[in-house]
Amino acid sequence: MTDYSQPRAARIAALPFDFTAQPTRTVEACNLCGRSTFVVLTHRDRYGYPAQAHACEFCGLVFLNPVMTGEAYGQFYQGTYRPLVSAYHGRLIDAQTMQGEQQEYAADRAGLLAPFLKDSGLKTLLDIGGSTGVVAHHLSRVFGLEAAVLDPAPLEVEEARKFGLETITALVEDYDPGTRRFDVVALFQTVDHLLDVGGTLARIRSLINDNGLLFVDIVDFRAAYLRNWSVEEAVKIDHPYYLTQETMRAYLARTGFEVVRTDYAGDHLHVSYVCRPSQPRAGAVPTVEVIRSLFQEVRYVQNAPRAK
Ligand SMILES: [Zn+2]
Repeated sequence: MTDYSQPRAARIAALPFDFTAQPTRTVEACNLCGRSTFVVLTHRDRYGYPAQAHACEFCGLVFLNPVMTGEAYGQFYQGTYRPLVSAYHGRLIDAQTMQGEQQEYAADRAGLLAPFLKDSGLKTLLDIGGSTGVVAHHLSRVFGLEAAVLDPAPLEVEEARKFGLETITALVEDYDPGTRRFDVVALFQTVDHLLDVGGTLARIRSLINDNGLLFVDIVDFRAAYLRNWSVEEAVKIDHPYYLTQETMRAYLARTGFEVVRTDYAGDHLHVSYVCRPSQPRAGAVPTVEVIRSLFQEVRYVQNAPRAK
């Protein structure tokens, strides 16, 4: 059990997790544009782990490099993720304590989705990274959807099962839907956790019905470093990717999604997108101006005078 009266660094150091011993893989090509010229933005994350965030010089995508392997992340979600986040915040955060917060989030999501789901005739929902199922359960009740939750954390999936939801314990990267298709696919608070954003979005595109909908939200990387005025504090090993509005839109365009609604969340950190399947636009990237201003802003934040 974590002693929450300890300082943050001591709480994190006391966890039975050795980041430097984790198997990793080196990212050779940018997941968004395929180029290989990167800028190392940071050398440690918010927990103090020596994880580097790189940015692709050509498209501005930010990602961990090297990054833990899929197997290492599988282990991480089973035993380390919630205790680590709890140690960081100094209070217990687990499947049970999250329920209240998730209820609020679910009601908020239902509000965003209502114009697109009410009387839409859409019937099935796949909630990827659906955790304890609170959101899927809420949406299934409000909009009469038949919902399935896909999540790699067994304890959270167990909670989802208690709602009577169909559950699949897996990383989306390993999930084989066969010929099954869904009307609605949700990636709530999940895309930043994926190991292959481009591959997963392409896969989702193939398992959505033509008249279906995709809901996805990002932690806006720029918002994350601007709110704390620290790039390191915006980086954490739980997120292989650090998306911006521009890189997310490029991903959606490339994988065949048209954005029909953008929503800036009340927390001023998340940005949500409601999307419909469309023709993929191969080669979509943020403009040169956007990429240049991202690098300038990162340097500006890194070099702001601060109290010693
Ligand atoms: Zn790139």
